[in-house]
Amino acid sequence: MSMVRGWCPGALRPMESGDGWVVRIRPRGGRLDAAQAQAIADAAEAHGNGIIELTGRANLQLRGVTPATHAPLIAALRAHDLIDADIAAETRRNVMVTPFADAETDALAAALEAALARSRLTLPAKFGFAVDTGPAPVLTSDPADIRIERGPQGLLLRADGMTRATLLHDVRDALDLAQWFLDQGGAPEGRGRMAALVADGPRPAATLPAPAPLAPFHPGLVPQGVLTGIEFGQIPPDALRRLARLGPLRLTPWRMLLVQGVRTLPAMAGLIPDARDPRLRLRACPGMPACPRALAQTRPVALGLAELVPQDAVLHVSGCAKGCGWPRAADITLTATPEGFDLIRHGRAADPAALRGLHPDQLPKVL
Ligand code: SF4
Repeated sequence: MSMVRGWCPGALRPMESGDGWVVRIRPRGGRLDAAQAQAIADAAEAHGNGIIELTGRANLQLRGVTPATHAPLIAALRAHDLIDADIAAETRRNVMVTPFADAETDALAAALEAALARSRLTLPAKFGFAVDTGPAPVLTSDPADIRIERGPQGLLLRADGMTRATLLHDVRDALDLAQWFLDQGGAPEGRGRMAALVADGPRPAATLPAPAPLAPFHPGLVPQGVLTGIEFGQIPPDALRRLARLGPLRLTPWRMLLVQGVRTLPAMAGLIPDARDPRLRLRACPGMPACPRALAQTRPVALGLAELVPQDAVLHVSGCAKGCGWPRAADITLTATPEGFDLIRHGRAADPAALRGLHPDQLPKVL
């Protein structure tokens, strides 16, 4: 087992973080049955620190895993078909699936995952695919390099960053586009993304207009079931077990889970059922005391400020400059330092601060 530092951990190749190893699980097709959800909840408690996070690529990650618990964790997950054959296959099988998948989409995603597992493509760790073939795309704002969508003409294949697509005849077309990306020099030194390549470089042939995406979703009823928000993107193990007993689960990249086939959900700690709930605007890493690198508590601070965050804005409170809880820019980021909180506007946790060394009592005023 090898270790990487950075932002793309897997299950077989975890990432070291302040609170131990982060192990990322890629459920096949973005779905979990009851037994898989139970296994993940049990494994998070037995072999990690009990934290289960939903990622921005619709994966799950467990935190607080140690060198001693990693092997039994992998064995427990492998028994439920949650682990790939090897690190290379795990890295390639970077496929995000619309949570509103129908049977055709599920079959397409399974075929793509199988083709990627068989292929010998060596793609950058962050290079990913989106199978977004519901009635309209819903993943266009979420990270993917090659997108499969649905248009009036049929299934479409689109390179990220382009507004034109081609017809998709077979999932191998998607792998051919990935090979084109490599052939064009899109991944010098093993890093690179499709949108950057096509921005000012070569473009694959494409003539069909991309379909218009749907507006962002919020917690509530959808035709397939109920979407529930997850507080801080972390689902308590008990809530995961209880939700999975109600119906099959679909993962989303939006800090929400879709429980299929239900019309309502019982109240549970850690779930946000209401689209107007201000907690949906908050991001925070585990902070103190969960993470030994943390310089302050994060979640209590964020919850205390929730009502002050304007609708549609994002407040990120980070226990240190690593920014594990939200590795993107937020409207306001509060980063804990030895001198107090730094306030960053429209940036990430490590970006230059507009205000420095704020005491928690000052935060409501400056926000
Ligand atoms: S950002 Fe948070 S979880 Fe990550 S190392 Fe810093 S304190 Fe720990």
